[in-house]
Amino acid sequence: MTVRVGIIGTGLIGTDHGQKLARQIAGATVAGVTDVNRARAEEVAAELGAAVFDSAEALIASPDVDAVLIASVGPTHAEYALACIAAGKHVLCEKPLATTTADALRVVEAEVAHGRRLVAVGFMRRLDAGYGQVKAAIDAGDVGEVLMVHNVHRNPTVPESYTSFMTMTDSVIHEVDTIRWLTGEEITSIQVLPPKRTPRAYPHLQDPQFVAFTTESGILATVDFFANAQYGYDVRCEVVGSEGTASLVNPTLSTTVLAGMDTTEIPPDWRVRFGAAYHAELQAWVDGVARGEAVGPSAWDGYAATLVTERGVEAVRTPGQPVAVAGIEKPPLYR
Ligand code: NAP
Repeated sequence: MTVRVGIIGTGLIGTDHGQKLARQIAGATVAGVTDVNRARAEEVAAELGAAVFDSAEALIASPDVDAVLIASVGPTHAEYALACIAAGKHVLCEKPLATTTADALRVVEAEVAHGRRLVAVGFMRRLDAGYGQVKAAIDAGDVGEVLMVHNVHRNPTVPESYTSFMTMTDSVIHEVDTIRWLTGEEITSIQVLPPKRTPRAYPHLQDPQFVAFTTESGILATVDFFANAQYGYDVRCEVVGSEGTASLVNPTLSTTVLAGMDTTEIPPDWRVRFGAAYHAELQAWVDGVARGEAVGPSAWDGYAATLVTERGVEAVRTPGQPVAVAGIEKPPLYR
């Protein structure tokens, strides 16, 4: 079966995903695209050999679309995911599943009422080879009991529109998911410690930010997040266990040995660093849809991440204060 995918949102990642689906992912074709920016949608549709739909609603309803990829701006995600569930269509929703916990819960409740999983959320780090090895080491018991998880997340720069709260909703949301996934536990509190500010950030942005989480069993997880780190895109993770540690290693692009220096190139941005993970995510999703199964992070994972980052926004507003995180009980559909 060839899965005919419809893409909502032809911005940066919608276009990247569309190019992979049209050219690299086995068993998939891009049937159609839509975007409020019609000219942009037409450009991408021409490149991918896809149709242009007048609206997301028309794309979701179309008999020519088997499954939907939501890559529009965050505040639109929940309504489109709900429309996909109502239409009985599989959907891969870019993060975040929703921008409020209440909206994320509506998606979870709609899927539970539908009775089977249709929603996958684009937390692609779970498909990264390095994170996969760290997870395998934990699951095999190699590091013993997990005690701490230390993360680093650094971007070269961010645009002026980036705010201190987007640290949570746009960036640290990835660590929120990986911490939950690696430990198999829900996050129970979040605290933000603002260090001295870099002179390289716009004055409205608290940068860097140091974030501390606790989980159900008392695991401490930290994120050193730096939006304007200048030097490149750098994601690190070290799991400290009772018997040993497991660490992510940045994939090496190249090394030069010259003039007494051994220099290792690091990824310039997230598209390079996680390119293979996006590919693996899309292939796994398409294969699952062809089998009639929703694979990958679920609507529950999307809900849990939005809940934590919503509390995280409160933690940014109250530096140094731990903010409690308490959600609903996990429905049986996701156990
Ligand atoms: P982007 O370049 O701004 O693209 C979003 C596109 O959606 C824009 O063309 C926008 O049009 C369009 N749009 C806005 N409202 C719409 C609507 N109601 N219906 C259809 N299209 C609409 O943003 P992006 O960087 O691609 O990010 C898109 C989503 O992917 C975000 O949720 C982001 O967090 C997520 N993302 C995830 C990752 C990851 O690592 N998993 C990486 C990047 C992005 P206008 O510009 O005219 O508003």
